[in-house]
Amino acid sequence: MNLNAPLTIALSKGRIFEQTLPLLAHAGIAPLDDPETSRKLILETSNPLVKFVIIRASDVPTYVQYGAADLGVAGKDVLMEHGGEGLYEPLDLGIARCRLMVAGLPETPEPISRRLRIATKYVHAAERYFAAKGQQVEIIKLYGSMELAPLVGLADLIVDLVESGNTLKANGLVPLEHIADISSRLVVNKASWKMKHEAVTALLERLREAVSQQAGG
Ligand code: ATP
Ligand code: MG
Repeated sequence: MNLNAPLTIALSKGRIFEQTLPLLAHAGIAPLDDPETSRKLILETSNPLVKFVIIRASDVPTYVQYGAADLGVAGKDVLMEHGGEGLYEPLDLGIARCRLMVAGLPETPEPISRRLRIATKYVHAAERYFAAKGQQVEIIKLYGSMELAPLVGLADLIVDLVESGNTLKANGLVPLEHIADISSRLVVNKASWKMKHEAVTALLERLREAVSQQAGG
């Protein structure tokens, strides 16, 4: 692919990196280093105009919003928390699929004389979900291991990502309510969209092709 402008793409290690690589390969872009073994945070690629920055999944929208990266790949869960300011979200990559769910012990007693407590990393999504149901809840922000909270009485319920349900099951929890289907999205900085329009849309079109080929077979 011939680009006429340099592009920086923000990616996180792990499942997003692994599942985005085949899509970028369709655009002729392959990293020259493996982020799992290299300590480099900026990776050159087979296209001299394209580099990757390797950051935490939840930081991707921030880098793209401020134009530190022109594009990025972020889970819908992360984008719902960020709010999407300064970003376009032109393509669902269909990768890293899971569901945002309410989960808890099979028999969660209605708390008496206090609000239902919800432990989650997804404070905004949880607030919006329970507010839409007209349910008054207290949200307790956690950064991980949400499954523990109902077991030790920190919260009545959790809001978390569920893929197979095995982590919930291993902790005696059950999925209770579906909030949203999650997959990873291509995000683009709004100024880059304008200033590097040809390069950005050329890449976008190759990714779109790769996504539809992957979906078709
Ligand atoms: P960190 O591990 O750095 O705290 P993280 O947990 O958000 O960040 P990952 O676990 O790699 O990082 O998840 C990255 C993205 O992949 C999430 O934002 C979500 O969109 C998606 N994801 C998370 N868990 C799953 C899962 N079990 N199955 C499928 N996709 C998932
Ligand atoms: Mg994780």
